[in-house]
Amino acid sequence: MLQQTQVRKVIEYYQRFLIKFPTLEQLANANLQELLKEWEGLGYYARARNLRKAAQIVVSDMGGQIPTDYNTFRKLPGVGDYTAAAVQSIAFGHSYAAVDGNVKRVIARIFMLDSPVNTTRSQGLFQEKANFLLDEDQPSTFNQAMMELGAITCRPKSPLCTICPVHMFCAAFQTARQDQFPLRLQRKPIPSYHLVVAVIHKGDQILITQRQTDGLLGGLWEFPNGEINNTEDPPEDVCRQIIQEDFNLQIEVTSFLTQTKHTYTHFKTTMEVFECRYQSGKIVLGQAQDYRWIKTDQINQYPLIGANHKFLSLI
Ligand code: SF4
Repeated sequence: MLQQTQVRKVIEYYQRFLIKFPTLEQLANANLQELLKEWEGLGYYARARNLRKAAQIVVSDMGGQIPTDYNTFRKLPGVGDYTAAAVQSIAFGHSYAAVDGNVKRVIARIFMLDSPVNTTRSQGLFQEKANFLLDEDQPSTFNQAMMELGAITCRPKSPLCTICPVHMFCAAFQTARQDQFPLRLQRKPIPSYHLVVAVIHKGDQILITQRQTDGLLGGLWEFPNGEINNTEDPPEDVCRQIIQEDFNLQIEVTSFLTQTKHTYTHFKTTMEVFECRYQSGKIVLGQAQDYRWIKTDQINQYPLIGANHKFLSLI
């Protein structure tokens, strides 16, 4: 579900992405780091990795032709029910109903469904209702109309019911209960982590490390960091200990740089960032998969995690 500002941002990314990787072959052969650099700032980095994996499969196993069969297409990495239905209907005219968050809101209101929209268990019910409504002769137009209806007219707050083309069929509108749908299950708050981050200088270089490709924020680069676990030690001491224990480097903490907060989809971080000076030791990679000592002005060549962008200008 993209808001208008996000739509504009995504269109700019999309256009740059197509210039950089204009064919499936070029996407399949893309260097992962180059790909993540183009994606940097969009979040959901697994999607970028899956897109490349899918392109590799299409190029190597399918003669470079995107499958026009739903089930084959659905098996590609990163493709779920929504993507499969959207691509198969819009690109190939096949009769599948695409159900995203916007569409679920429309359906929940039209039918006054009392199932929460944010559980996997209710997915089947929303899909069933969408299949029932689907115009099988025009699945592409139908899906795009439902997406637009949800995004522009049937807005989460203050839906524009009086100009809505389906208000005569909408149970919520007919009973003036639009604001009571869709139902949502209250989720537990996302976890919050308190971290120390070390910007370690060695001469005119600084140290960055790369996260494991298959993990969270996989393949992105970051400054060495670690979690402050229940301790009364001052954060600068924790920083020194973590860099010693996790990276085998002895450092001097020279100054406190800043504190930043960042929220990802599944967790939040608060970072205490320190400027440090390398003293001795040969780096050992524990959790990280790679590292580089780079000049400060080379940092833009590396796709960095979002939280680190917040203090880059201070270094
Ligand atoms: S009538 Fe109102 S609540 Fe119903 S689908 Fe249209 S915009 Fe949504």
